Amino acid sequence: MKTAEVADVAYEYDDGLYLNLTNRCPTACTFCVKKQWSWRYRGWDLKLSGEPSAAAVSEVAVSRLSRRPFRELVFCGYGESTYRLPELVEISRRVRREYPELPIRLNTIGLGDMIWKCDISPDLARAVDAVSVSLNTADPAQWKRLHRPAAEFREEGFAAALRFTARCAARGLHVTVTAVDLPGVDLWAVTDLALKLGAEFRVRPRLENSVPDIAP
Ligand code: SF4
Repeated sequence: MKTAEVADVAYEYDDGLYLNLTNRCPTACTFCVKKQWSWRYRGWDLKLSGEPSAAAVSEVAVSRLSRRPFRELVFCGYGESTYRLPELVEISRRVRREYPELPIRLNTIGLGDMIWKCDISPDLARAVDAVSVSLNTADPAQWKRLHRPAAEFREEGFAAALRFTARCAARGLHVTVTAVDLPGVDLWAVTDLALKLGAEFRVRPRLENSVPDIAP
């Protein structure tokens, strides 16, 4: 039987081990399923009662990794992991000590530089191998409509996400720009933009149409 702490901070999907560090978001994305799915994701409960310490998450991650092989470790939950950049770096360091071959990825909305008011790509380059940036559009006005950013991210957010993407790519990280397959989005334009920024591009399916699993 899973404990609340284990279920909250780490979850498994498609041979990946995912770490859920925070429920804080700089955006309120229109395509987000966290409320519709009651903060669950394919059987896991991602609603944190508090933010877990780096030591606690590291323990859970290392324990899970010892039980079976995983294809990758991913920082991704119902929240923006870069709010917890120091913890992310610490967890990565601990995991890499014991599993140096395991690829590590960050899934992000791309606003980490604005959150920290500096270029965080040097820290990320030490902590992860790959970054997936949920950009979703090449149009700044549509970016605002789709992501409904908090006031402090509204005017500069799109440009900051582009800059963040380019900086991560320039640091040698494997960067993928992603877009949810939404009506009215020009996916060719996003592809083109991704390539210009030094990233690859991937379309993600809309989760709203899927039926969430019930917790085991
Ligand atoms: S950043 Fe992620 S968790 Fe936050 S609102 Fe957007 S889709 Fe939802």
